[in-house]
Amino acid sequence: MDTGLLIALLNPTIALALGAAFAVLWSYQRHRPYLAALAVSYCLSAPGFLFQYFTLPVGVAMTKLISNICFAIAACCLSSAIVARYGRRVPYIGIAVMVGGGLAAFCWFMFVQPDLTWRVLATNFGFGGLSLLVAAELRPVRNNGPTEKILFVLSLLSGLNFTARTLIVVIAHGPFPSYDGFYGSSYWTTALLSHALLSLLIALCLFSAAALDVMKTLKAETHTDPLSGILNRRGFEERAARLLEQCDKAGFPVALVLADLDHFKALNDQHGHEAGDRVIVDFAAKLRAATGARGAAGRIGGEEFAVLLPLTDLAAARLFAEAIRTFYSAGTIVGLPGVKVTASFGVAARTGKEGLPPMMRRADEALYKAKKNGRDSVRLSYERPETAFTAEPLAVG
Ligand code: GH3
Ligand code: MG
Ligand code: MG
Repeated sequence: MDTGLLIALLNPTIALALGAAFAVLWSYQRHRPYLAALAVSYCLSAPGFLFQYFTLPVGVAMTKLISNICFAIAACCLSSAIVARYGRRVPYIGIAVMVGGGLAAFCWFMFVQPDLTWRVLATNFGFGGLSLLVAAELRPVRNNGPTEKILFVLSLLSGLNFTARTLIVVIAHGPFPSYDGFYGSSYWTTALLSHALLSLLIALCLFSAAALDVMKTLKAETHTDPLSGILNRRGFEERAARLLEQCDKAGFPVALVLADLDHFKALNDQHGHEAGDRVIVDFAAKLRAATGARGAAGRIGGEEFAVLLPLTDLAAARLFAEAIRTFYSAGTIVGLPGVKVTASFGVAARTGKEGLPPMMRRADEALYKAKKNGRDSVRLSYERPETAFTAEPLAVG
């Protein structure tokens, strides 16, 4: 087998393998359409490369046109998939202008005014413009993560590969009068090898991005309570630990509020487990809305909830708990008109560098007092820090 043929088969083989890999990935994650677009893109570029080397019975010109149409669709799919994966709006008009312009110029220099050199230049400049458009779209998000940065650089390189490399090699080589010797030229060899390398790097980067997506979803699932949609105990503890560390660094006060629904067992017995579930969902939603994005709200047990509030001292946390308690006991539950439920609360403010477990213990003791006090109430843990807030003796001068 001659080397030219081997090199010619390199790109279609890589493209097909990558296309198949993205198709398998998509079959497991149907909710990520960008994976399907990547599969189509890589699968279509395989015939694109093949028809550059092997001529169909329809003739050279038509085969080249089919090849370029394959590349054009593949490029549209690839660029929209990348832009969509990174949460940007797909610039359909820009993509259509670049790809359509390249294809129109190709047709002009193929059928109207045949010229191989201008055809090569026009086609490459169309794809180069598209790569630079993708780079421009990724520019605002390039510092969000490693795959964003790498893909931004790869898009730039791809843009330069299509434009600068083509220009340099064509100038150095001189115009191509015909296809004789074209496939052995420095233009064709550098084009095939650079595309093989770039498409492999881009695909690897997109695979990593897809793997990161899956890991993020799994992490969110393991940290979320499936019934109420708020953090579960594990998720709450992790987020609370992060918030405590941040507040520690900034010197902000933090408070913890524990809440437990009153007589919940009796409610289940009277109205059924499903009604009990509705109450949990309703209470969690109200707690989450009251907490906002700054704090952390979680369901840490059956009908037990916890809220960590940064920038909040004991008095402010008490007001927060009292506000929820009165609002909740006076309100109605979505889907359960006529059913009244109350909740008891225990509040503890952080002392010194106290960690989450001792705060939980103190808030739980306060909650126990609220339960003993007849429920539907808020109780505080008055434990004072050992070192913090110790007043300096006033200097008398
Ligand atoms: P108290 O006022 O002292 O807190 O009494 P209580 O009945 O609320 O507390 P207890 O700990 O005796 O009972 C809690 C009940 O919560 C028992 C359990 O069946 C119910 N429970 C726990 N998880 C769920 C859940 O996911 N859905 C429903 N419907 N009930 C749950
Ligand atoms: Mg209870
Ligand atoms: Mg309980």
